[in-house]
Amino acid sequence: MKELLSLLRDLQKVDSAIEKIQGRKAQLPGMLEALDEIFTASRTEMEEQKEKLQEATKKHREKEELLRRGQDSLKKAKARQFEVKTNKEYEAILKEVETLEIKSSQMEDEILEAMEEIDRVRGLVQNIERDFDQARLRYEGERKKRAEELALADGDLHATREKSQALREKVPPDILKRYDTIRNVSAGIAVIGVWKEVCQGCRMNLPPQLYNEIQREEEIRFCPNCNRILYWDDQSNGDNEKNHRGA
Ligand SMILES: [Zn+2]
Repeated sequence: MKELLSLLRDLQKVDSAIEKIQGRKAQLPGMLEALDEIFTASRTEMEEQKEKLQEATKKHREKEELLRRGQDSLKKAKARQFEVKTNKEYEAILKEVETLEIKSSQMEDEILEAMEEIDRVRGLVQNIERDFDQARLRYEGERKKRAEELALADGDLHATREKSQALREKVPPDILKRYDTIRNVSAGIAVIGVWKEVCQGCRMNLPPQLYNEIQREEEIRFCPNCNRILYWDDQSNGDNEKNHRGA
């Protein structure tokens, strides 16, 4: 019976390991998706800022063109000053020149502003591009790592399943059936330690008689509360605690 109990403890360890690998594997696609999202977001931000830069450059060109036309008009108006015949016409041209000069000066201010905006956005784009390059390297590295992890997990899973299968073949079918049934309803743990009359699966106090039987390891015993298969988890030596718990 001692051997069977030790076999069951090993099987529990291996089956728990399978669950752990499966859990890890299940997380990986989500992690990859999250990586993709972050990467796509930073690329979108970069593209948006590049578009802003293009817009600012276009606006600047348009304003330069408006300024050029305004200055042409101003030149023509000034030339006409000398051709007018009447005072009224002369005043009208003076007024026109004044308006055109104000407009030109405003346009020059706007051009300065546009150039400042271009400088600002260009600096931003340069920073973002540099960050993006680093983000891309990180992203590619991380993605590769996750893909390798997934392949590794597949390999581990295969090997661990084979181990489980080999152990299962040694356990009597009725006990194995009971083991799997308990696992299904007890969060994957069918074999659990008992120490100081307490089941470490459900924390229930066990009757002293049962505790004695478990210590003798003559028969497979079950927790009256959670139905788990019990073994004596001797923790009298402090070092054993870690090694045995959760086995
Ligand atoms: Zn229990």
